[in-house]
Amino acid sequence: MNRRTFLQQTLAAALLPLVSPRVFRLQEDPFRLLRRNVGIFTGRGGTIGWLATADALIVVDAQFPETATQCWEGLHARTERMIDALINTHHHRDHTAGNIALKPHARQIIAHRNVPELQRRAAEQQGTLDQQAYADRTFDPSLTLEAGDERVHVVYYGPAHTGGDAIIHFEKANIVHVGDLVFNRMPCFIDLPGGATTEGWIAALERLHATYDDETQFIFGHGNPKYGVVGGRADLLVMRDFLEGLRRYVEAGIKSGKTVDELAVDRLPDFPEHYVESWPQGIPNAIRAVYQELSGS
Ligand SMILES: [Zn+2]
Repeated sequence: MNRRTFLQQTLAAALLPLVSPRVFRLQEDPFRLLRRNVGIFTGRGGTIGWLATADALIVVDAQFPETATQCWEGLHARTERMIDALINTHHHRDHTAGNIALKPHARQIIAHRNVPELQRRAAEQQGTLDQQAYADRTFDPSLTLEAGDERVHVVYYGPAHTGGDAIIHFEKANIVHVGDLVFNRMPCFIDLPGGATTEGWIAALERLHATYDDETQFIFGHGNPKYGVVGGRADLLVMRDFLEGLRRYVEAGIKSGKTVDELAVDRLPDFPEHYVESWPQGIPNAIRAVYQELSGS
């Protein structure tokens, strides 16, 4: 990134709370076509994936009501179809809060079998029970949708980032939305009460890496702005290495008798690029979660 772009982006980020979404949209188009009518929408929250043709409209994740509405408007300009399926990659609210805005336009909402209950429990804690729309079709461990000239596979690999992560594979486009299995070169949220396990997460990333090929494009739930939310197979292993690094660091700390507060540093040694200014608590929180996971306390 050159200095000018950097300054523009920094300025845009600083002004973001002050300007309306409409003004901000002029600066950066949240829609990006990847290939074969599959693309992404970056607004606020987890990256939305979509397939939009005259014969099919599939949406993966819903962010928040305002950005979900903006996404719907953009997709509706591409195709007159209703949403054939809204698929949630998992229950976290930055992926499901927009369900309520998309539901009137969607024939069905699909998620893994564990998601509605996880979503309900989280909403209860956050006091947002009245703002939820839940999946009305669940699967375990997989389902396939025919979507015009595309075939969409939705698969559960077991507990990883949560207890109900779906991987969405657009077969002909050779694009996979992995939800929050990848936080691209940034701290990750490890939600133990939501069913997270770093061991399962590492296994899921290795299985993904073995299942797809060098031509596959991956859509990530979140990404360090320097690296983005779209990548390739190698990025899966960067994420795996980070999780393994977290576990190694915490394991060594526990062995040497350190307390969780002593361990909860801002940057993980060996992973200096996994840092996002706007989320300074990211690494300490991840360390605390892994500490709890490994020590059982
Ligand atoms: Zn998440």
